[in-house]
Amino acid sequence: MKNRTFRDAMGKFATGVTIVTTKVNDQTHGMTANAFMSVSLDPQLITISIDNNAKMLDYIKESGKFAVSILKDEQKEVSMHFAGQKDNPDVVSFDEVYGIPIIQDSLASVICEVDKSVEAGDHTLFIGEVLELKLTDGSPLAFFSGKYGSYQVV
Ligand code: FAD
Ligand code: NAD
Repeated sequence: MKNRTFRDAMGKFATGVTIVTTKVNDQTHGMTANAFMSVSLDPQLITISIDNNAKMLDYIKESGKFAVSILKDEQKEVSMHFAGQKDNPDVVSFDEVYGIPIIQDSLASVICEVDKSVEAGDHTLFIGEVLELKLTDGSPLAFFSGKYGSYQVV
């Protein structure tokens, strides 16, 4: 199966868009990710999947903590910045919870410590145990077939 066909098929699964953040030696690092899911309620666990070539991989390994901020529909530029698609540092602002940076004004942030990491092909899954949650009102940014959009109730 061609990789393009695989990506086209996976792209048919509409997702939200998140920014994964962490801090190492007082340096904050963020990256855009849509491979995020809820795993367990008791204990509260989530997972993210990080490309083994992403700088984020070593940062999370080193810090042992990370946060996942779910973006609002007005935060497309934030997603593009942290995916390296369009440099726009003006749209970046962080808050901090338990010493972990989160994206300001996001829809929700999940602050975690690493419970387990699992190597899976060319990615690594980090399972995070939830330390804290932040929620606000708003509508999510969506990603479908490689394009950004917004969510509509039908
Ligand atoms: P870089 O490429 O160096 O960093 C990403 C960008 O963030 C750079 O522009 C950098 O300047 C900026 N940045 C980082 N820290 C800061 C800071 N403190 N202040 C200001 N700017 C900062 N990849 C995955 O592995 N898993 C996924 O689930 C995933 N999902 C994606 C979903 C979407 C919708 C998109 C568009 C991309 C996705 N990617 C995913 C790809 C991933 O976002 C990019 O490959 C990203 O560039 C990897 O980041 P990096 O850690 O290698 O660091
Ligand atoms: P795309 O068509 O590449 O993405 C569609 C879907 O394919 C994604 O939602 C994801 O489910 C899957 N996918 C894409 N690249 C993948 C990868 N390297 N590993 C595992 N699954 C992957 O959309 P696009 O607009 O071309 O994406 C922009 C960039 O972001 C591309 O370079 C893409 O590779 C990267 N991206 C990576 C991931 C990931 O690593 N999990 C997810 C989304 C996008």
